[in-house]
Amino acid sequence: MEQYIKLSTLNDFIFCPKSIYYHTLYDNYEKNLYQEQAQKEGTKIHESIDNKTYSTSKHILQGVSVYNDYYEIAGKIDIFNTLTWELIERKTQIFLDKNKKPKIYLWYKYQLWWQMFCLEEMWYNVKSLWIYSVKDNKKYRIYKPSTNGLLYFENLLKKYRKFDLLQKNWKQNTQKCLKCIYRELCDYYIWEVYPQLKLFD
Ligand code: SF4
Repeated sequence: MEQYIKLSTLNDFIFCPKSIYYHTLYDNYEKNLYQEQAQKEGTKIHESIDNKTYSTSKHILQGVSVYNDYYEIAGKIDIFNTLTWELIERKTQIFLDKNKKPKIYLWYKYQLWWQMFCLEEMWYNVKSLWIYSVKDNKKYRIYKPSTNGLLYFENLLKKYRKFDLLQKNWKQNTQKCLKCIYRELCDYYIWEVYPQLKLFD
């Protein structure tokens, strides 16, 4: 395992720890070959950031690589405005739940905290964190971690570092496997979800 944890693997790890190994394998392939619709849309809205054409203003940092030595994490920020000190992560669209509240997944928070820790270690003052829902042009505030939030975040990093692909009796929810973009590579999928494909007992 690499010493620094990459932000791009965070979502995969939360979805399924095993998937980070396939994520690394797929790093060398054209994303279009394996991404499904939702991921393709996400990639599309980040194109201008990745190409650094989202803004020509000098006070907007876009797609900059960042890292944090203390947590040994690395990644790229989406947008950081050095005039307002706002850190913004763009998402294709934030939907509302049945109570009309925005569905802000835990990993969105971790993603922004991750970027914030990196920027702060580089002496940037991060004042506020935001998710920007591109399709409906809405912004949602994400608060900095509470003491408990920080403990969960640190615990996640510990789990990431400790995860052992070869550990016995490891289980995954097979419903997740059915939605997993790495399923065709994954032995767990073949053995647990489609045991009829087993050649040998
Ligand atoms: S197929 Fe299942 S076990 Fe394999 S990486 Fe995906 S979610 Fe994890």
